[in-house]
Amino acid sequence: MTTNTPATPTPDLTRVAAWAAPAAKAPLERTTVPRRPVGEHDVLIEIKYAGICHSDIHQARDGWGGAAFPMVPGHEIAGVVAAVGSGVSRFAVGDRVGVGCFVDSCRTCEYCLQGLEQYCTQGMTGTYNAVGKDGEPTYGGYSTHIVVDENYTLRIPEGIDLDKAAPLLCAGITLYSPLAHWKAGPGKSVAIVGLGGLGHMGVKIAHAMGAEVTVLSQTLRKQEDGLKLGADHFHATGDPQTFEKLAGSFDLIVSTVSAPLDFDAYLGLLKTDGTLVNVGAPEEPVSLNLFSVISNRKTLAGSMIGGIAETQEMLDFCAEHGLGAEIELIRADQVNEAYERVLASDVRYRFVIDAATI
Ligand code: NAP
Ligand code: ZN
Ligand code: ZN
Repeated sequence: MTTNTPATPTPDLTRVAAWAAPAAKAPLERTTVPRRPVGEHDVLIEIKYAGICHSDIHQARDGWGGAAFPMVPGHEIAGVVAAVGSGVSRFAVGDRVGVGCFVDSCRTCEYCLQGLEQYCTQGMTGTYNAVGKDGEPTYGGYSTHIVVDENYTLRIPEGIDLDKAAPLLCAGITLYSPLAHWKAGPGKSVAIVGLGGLGHMGVKIAHAMGAEVTVLSQTLRKQEDGLKLGADHFHATGDPQTFEKLAGSFDLIVSTVSAPLDFDAYLGLLKTDGTLVNVGAPEEPVSLNLFSVISNRKTLAGSMIGGIAETQEMLDFCAEHGLGAEIELIRADQVNEAYERVLASDVRYRFVIDAATI
């Protein structure tokens, strides 16, 4: 195997620095994890920035079940290629690249062949808290380096700073995909529920697509920000009158809320034939009165991140429209504090770890 000259000396891949949760609900701490040797089709990425997604917190605390420890979270990765395998054709040393929520899939099922790798029938291989095809655990982006197959690596266009690009790899694509699929655009009235990491990207992207955008937030505390991000309207869901005032208003609602939601109330805000797409992933089940969808032929749908081709399309769209995430850059040793602030809805609007502090 031949590799090009790395941008910086290649680290000892058997011991790469990382921040990991040693057990469910235990604070994250500095450690080292092994990365695989750079294979023929792999790129070695020197991580520059890693976003903190609420999913990292659900998983590090084993809120969804099935967590394996030690866990290195992080699936919003932006960095620079430091080495490439001999068979790599799409990337070269020095390229600006990103990695999102998955690093492999079966590549042959009907969904993989359609570019919907996130819905692979064999199950995609998560960037962390999963087991790779080599039988080894995967470790995520709160780390200095990662080795990823070039087919699961994204190109970050010039024009988006790497720190503001990192959150696009999950928050950006998770909102872009349903907004594109359900055709947000001119003449469409779109509501985004929850103005957090996902929600704020939803506002920016839906606005750039030309839709009329409303934010539904628990309070009016983030109103000024929401309007600056591109929302046309902003309402507090803590005010019961909001649900009366806005009944039958929206073609499309995307909920990003991380806690169980009163779906009956939100379905009441849709027009006939409207769709409520849930992307939030609460740890508890929710209940539903089916009359909420029967009347007025409404749809309650879900959506999970996006495929590789669509993620690249989203990155190019964001570069073209000058969109990046609103971030609060933190040191790695602030990660536990950042988790608490996300849980308190006190993030404006994405924490991003500066990997130089790992
Ligand atoms: P986040 O930054 O914490 O944002 C969630 C927002 O939801 C909060 O900022 C808050 O907004 C609102 N919220 C929180 N608790 C609430 C409650 N009890 N009632 C009503 N609203 C509440 O989280 P995120 O990173 O955007 O992720 C959001 C959810 O999506 C998480 O569950 C995450 O696991 C999931 N997720 C799913 C996918 C997917 O592919 N489907 C991908 C990534 C993440 P306001 O302050 O404006 O009310
Ligand atoms: Zn995520
Ligand atoms: Zn597949």
